[in-house]
Amino acid sequence: MAEIAENASGFKVLKISRAEIVEKLGPKGAIGVCDYCMKSPTMGYYVAVLDQWLCPECYQDFIAGNTPFPEDSHVESIMFNTYCRIFEVKINQVSPGAAK
Ligand SMILES: [Zn+2]
Repeated sequence: MAEIAENASGFKVLKISRAEIVEKLGPKGAIGVCDYCMKSPTMGYYVAVLDQWLCPECYQDFIAGNTPFPEDSHVESIMFNTYCRIFEVKINQVSPGAAK
């Protein structure tokens, strides 16, 4: 199941397996490869502000090397909410420090 990936930088990110990406977005052309390095990991991360699905290595590089820009947050939220709907993720999981 897709789930929200908490990160210290505060980006809106969903952890989504390749199988789910292909199942839900295959009809739209998704083939489950990292948008940066073209690897095909079994688990990856959808980064809403990029509108890209990244392998764990590229995701860690992105998180470590970037901070969110306030002017991106509107588009980021739209993409994030769209993907939460597609992957049936409850958005109320977002709140920081929420109990498991
Ligand atoms: Zn990658």
